Amino acid sequence: METIVRTKIVDVLKSEAFGTTVNVKGWVRTRRGSKQISFIALNDGSTIKNVQIVVSVEDFGEEYLKPITTGACISVNGTLVRSEGKGQEAEIQAREILIYGTADPATYPLQKKGHSLEFLREIAHLRPRTNTFGAVFRIRHHMAMAIHRFFHERGFFYFHTPVITASDCEGAGQMFQVTTMNLYDLKKDDGGSIDYTGDFFGKQTSLTVSGQLEGELAAMALGSIYTFGPTFRAENSNTPRHLAEFWMIEPEVAFNGIEENMQLAEEFIKYCIRWGLDHCMEDIRFLNDMYDKELIERLHFVLERDFIRLTYTEGIKILEEAVAKGQTFEFPVFWGADLASEHERYLVEVHFKCPVILTDYPKEIKSFYMKQNDDGKTVRAMDVLFPKIGEIIGGSQREDDYDKLSDHAREKGVPVKDIWWYLDTRKFGTAPHSGFGLGFERLLLFVTGMGNIRDVIPFPRTPNNAGF
Ligand code: ATP
Ligand code: MN
Repeated sequence: METIVRTKIVDVLKSEAFGTTVNVKGWVRTRRGSKQISFIALNDGSTIKNVQIVVSVEDFGEEYLKPITTGACISVNGTLVRSEGKGQEAEIQAREILIYGTADPATYPLQKKGHSLEFLREIAHLRPRTNTFGAVFRIRHHMAMAIHRFFHERGFFYFHTPVITASDCEGAGQMFQVTTMNLYDLKKDDGGSIDYTGDFFGKQTSLTVSGQLEGELAAMALGSIYTFGPTFRAENSNTPRHLAEFWMIEPEVAFNGIEENMQLAEEFIKYCIRWGLDHCMEDIRFLNDMYDKELIERLHFVLERDFIRLTYTEGIKILEEAVAKGQTFEFPVFWGADLASEHERYLVEVHFKCPVILTDYPKEIKSFYMKQNDDGKTVRAMDVLFPKIGEIIGGSQREDDYDKLSDHAREKGVPVKDIWWYLDTRKFGTAPHSGFGLGFERLLLFVTGMGNIRDVIPFPRTPNNAGF
């Protein structure tokens, strides 16, 4: 076969160089046709669209074409011609076809269209070849680009925080332990506790639940930073919004108070959504038509609204009034309660019909590092609540007073001696600062309209599920 430089299908479809010879390579979506002429729909992942390959059966012979079935991988040399079928820009008149790999129709699992998302999770190694997951994973890439660009344009530095950590101040009980010890032969001390001195790091270590504490150290030197990395939580919440391994973006900014923090969060999330609409419209339109007819409308809706800002206390009042009028919730509503997704979604979808930023939560239900308000009851927390999702961002102004921070840590049972390095920032040149965490997959749920977080990450980790 003649060697011709490959053109990606996304570019072939845009090309107007009719009459020239091109090469495309990709996976066969379908092959249909008659005794004389065969049509191959070929996809190479560069776009949701397929290019049509027109094949003269006589030229190639039926036997040769037989293994070109759904899932097979081929390379095609041919002439670019203007398509006569409507909706297609260009197609290729095949001259030479090389078969890289066949896919036996008897065993290839992606034969027909319309497999359920549940079934596709069981073949996560092949699901990127479907239109749906091709679209989702292309959007995932573009969203990651948007995030880096947003922060880069604003002078933030991408800071890499460790994945393995020895502090468990946030995630007591929900961390994955990291060890090289022989679990069949664990050494214990006289008190029956496990002796970690012989473990790889000489102490107990886990996978991080958040890069925030290290991010704060960096903000106290570089000014504005963000992290973007994998995060692990062994919480046994089998919900459509929780993963055991997910990606989190955590900006942290010196000298920002809670107001600037809210401003940053709103600008950030709108930038990402606009980026999606500007760069992923074909994929988003497909998902809109397939799964969520209101997706595009909802994305525009959020872009056009100023997020409503109100305090937790005001939020509880609204929820209590709703309950008094007959609204039922699974979990009780009272001042001091941790809001469940149903409460968050009531505020966003029913009451305000707009994204909401809730602030000033009771200190009992929030982390030790959040700045305490003068009322002695609340902390300067801010959660961004979104339609269909509930909490998409959690953040706060941080406590910058050494004594208040260490007292609060002790009150909450945080092992203060393990985070001496964190407390040190409040000892040496402390400063007001704020930050937040955005769950990358929660953002993707919103932008793709997918209903289950397992379908916006290539290889989901959830309880009892770490295949692939
Ligand atoms: P939730 O109440 O929804 O469990 P959280 O309060 O535990 O969230 P934070 O600790 O504030 O969340 O984490 C910051 C962000 O990370 C959240 O706003 C959310 O977008 C995301 N997030 C948290 N836990 C998970 C998870 N298990 N899977 C995916 N994303 C998550
Ligand atoms: Mn959680």
